Amino acid sequence: MLGTGIIKGLATTAKNFVGSFHDPERMTTIQYPEEQAPIGEHYRSFPFLISETAEDPMGTLRCVACQICEKECPPQCIYIVKSKDKKPDANGKQQLYPVIFDIDTSVCMSCGICAEVCPFDSIKMDKVFEVAATDRFSGLLLDREQLAKSNAYYNQIRPSEALEVDTRLAADRKAAEEKARVAAAAKAAAAAKAAEVAAAKAAEAATAKPAAGPSDQPPAGAPVASATPPPPASS
Ligand code: SF4
Ligand code: SF4
Repeated sequence: MLGTGIIKGLATTAKNFVGSFHDPERMTTIQYPEEQAPIGEHYRSFPFLISETAEDPMGTLRCVACQICEKECPPQCIYIVKSKDKKPDANGKQQLYPVIFDIDTSVCMSCGICAEVCPFDSIKMDKVFEVAATDRFSGLLLDREQLAKSNAYYNQIRPSEALEVDTRLAADRKAAEEKARVAAAAKAAAAAKAAEVAAAKAAEAATAKPAAGPSDQPPAGAPVASATPPPPASS
C-alpha cells in the first residue's frame, strides 16, 4: 500500500519518543557536547604524525621526510622540508627527518591517502573532529609539533590497526638486528683471518731470513765494496 513505509517510520519515531520518557535505553539522542557518541575504529578526521614516545616527540618522529605523502596528497595541503643532517631511527639506522612538516587542515579532505602511501607507518588518521578555530589560517595550519602524537595514542584510538603495525615493525627491527649481528660477526671473522694471515707471513719471513753468521762476513783481507761511488776523474 502506498505510504506504508512512511507510517512505519512515524510509528517507530513515536514509539521511541514516548518510550524515551520511561526507558533511557530508547533514547536515540545524546546531550552533546557533554556526552559523546562512540566513534567507530575506522572513522577518520585529519592526519597526525607518529612519534615513538610521548616524552620526546620531535626526537622520535618516525617520519624520514621522503615526501611521498606530500606528492600524493590530492589537494596538496602537505608541506615538508627535509633535514640536511641525519639521525638514528627506531632501528638505529641513520635517516633524514622533517625540519618542517605542515598540514593545512582547512584544505585537507580526510581522504587518508597520505596514511596509505607512507612506507614508514609515520602518518595515520586521527579521530579528533572538534577542530574549530577563530583564525582560518593560523588556527588550522598545523606544524609538526601540533601534528605529533605518540604511538601509545595511536594504539588507543585504533587498537587493531596499531597492533598489526607494531607487530610488523617489531619483526622488521628483529630482522635488522639479526642482519647487523651477522654483519658484525662476518667483520670480526674477516679481521681475525687477516690477523692470522699477517702472523703467518711474518713467521715465514723470519724463517726465510736466518740471522747473520760468520759465512755472511767477507774473508779477511778481501776488498770491501764501498757504498760511496768514487769521485769523477778531473780532466
Ligand atoms: S588526508 Fe588526504 S587531503 Fe588530507 S593530508 Fe592526507 S592525503 Fe592530503
Ligand atoms: S609521513 Fe611518511 S610518506 Fe610522508 S614524508 Fe614522512 S615518511 Fe614519507
